[in-house]
Amino acid sequence: MSYSLSKSTFIKYLQCDKSLYLYKNNRNLKDPVSAATQLVFDRGHSVGDYAHNIFPNGVDCSWDKPWEYEPSLKKTAACIKNNTEVIYEGAFLADDTIVAADILVKEGEGYHVYEVKSSILISETYLRDAALQYNIIQKAGLIITGFSLITLNKDYIKSGEIEPNKLFKINDVTDQIRSRQLFVETGLRGAKDVLALKSVPNTKIGDHCREPYSCDFIGHCWQNYQKETVFQLEGLPDEKKWEYYRQNIIDLKSIKEESLSTVQKISKRAYLQNDYYIEPYSLKNWIEKTTYPIVFLDFHFIRPAIPIIDGTSPYQSQLYLFSIIKLKEDNQTEIKLNVLQDYDLEAFTRELSNQLEGMPSILVYNKSTDVEKLKNLFLSYQLPVDCLNKIVDMHPLLMERKFWHGQMKENMSIADLAKLISVQMQWDKLEFSIPEQANVFMEDVLNTNFKDKEIKLTKLKNYSGFINTAQFRFFNLLKNKYSITN
Ligand code: SF4
Repeated sequence: MSYSLSKSTFIKYLQCDKSLYLYKNNRNLKDPVSAATQLVFDRGHSVGDYAHNIFPNGVDCSWDKPWEYEPSLKKTAACIKNNTEVIYEGAFLADDTIVAADILVKEGEGYHVYEVKSSILISETYLRDAALQYNIIQKAGLIITGFSLITLNKDYIKSGEIEPNKLFKINDVTDQIRSRQLFVETGLRGAKDVLALKSVPNTKIGDHCREPYSCDFIGHCWQNYQKETVFQLEGLPDEKKWEYYRQNIIDLKSIKEESLSTVQKISKRAYLQNDYYIEPYSLKNWIEKTTYPIVFLDFHFIRPAIPIIDGTSPYQSQLYLFSIIKLKEDNQTEIKLNVLQDYDLEAFTRELSNQLEGMPSILVYNKSTDVEKLKNLFLSYQLPVDCLNKIVDMHPLLMERKFWHGQMKENMSIADLAKLISVQMQWDKLEFSIPEQANVFMEDVLNTNFKDKEIKLTKLKNYSGFINTAQFRFFNLLKNKYSITN
């Protein structure tokens, strides 16, 4: 018993034939799994496990390693033969393809299949996944009485113990996936044709490399597009980049300046010269608008798929961490680090409000959308929001090219920005490489009764303090080095 395709390789094929070919024949060319991808994967797993509570006491047929699938197939077959009421991760092999069903529930002569998605909405990709599962499970001989996707219910508000039947929403998609069976059959034939190829398909890069998922082979396929190409032109919309690519205008130098906006021209010149572009008068004007004491604010939200705090819903943003550096006119600084404890979101929000109240200038970095979230949070606890109108984002300085370097990216984090412009800090002491890691770490702390909870909370506070210090030093650098001082 062996197989050539699985749900994940079928999805790879639907995204790009070359991706499937490379995965099967040149897996060593795969990019390392990024921290962000791993987090999305882990989150999917934990929601899936949680959804078992809707249909409790099932028999688990899952397998950990790809080569351990045979016992799983046998166990699933035995469960079906014994009319087991609920089966988790039942495995099926047919048409040279293996799939697993998250939950199978006995219904009349057959089983209803439930697939769990750690999402609020149903996408076309989910329906295609489900259509493949339906196809293979049926070919394997099981009578499918219906097929549903289990998603998170955005209207659920936690109050005490989680109620799985209210937390999740069951969406019957049987008709939608039946109508996609021709699509699946065509896809299976196409994928098998790719597996039979003797050499790699000549598929070009395109926006499909990142849609619907970021491909595992970007490092390999994009290696000739990583330097001095149109793709390095910051500020040029993606559609325009692809338009140039289709016209075979790839070399950054060959793009005519007349066709570029001011921001794009600055990006191009700074990139090719690997140098700074700085507008000292603009920086000076911007800095002069700040008033002492200047507050530097770093703050973070978690968006747990499964709500942790009473009164919150799936994926609702919850403030959990902030750091404030207060710079006085005599150059003295005060720092305040705070992390959510004891699940008291109102007290925590009030503490931030107290810290910001009356401050004339509050500087943040790339937090415009998060400031809106803060406003909503303050309003929900009837806290004054005037102080939030004093928030000034430093990120537009980059976006408007008042301060820019050829190696900069428009969406770069403050940590990456500070590293690039040589702000002296001990970067190896940074606890988390991306903010999402800190967020997931916090979700774990809130969900688990760790003995060393205090140590973990201190790590989070130090992380925010570090990011906050990078903001502060970035501002000082602009002020002392790049803006005109008199
Ligand atoms: S990087 Fe793009 S072209 Fe290369 S395999 Fe992936 S999707 Fe296909």
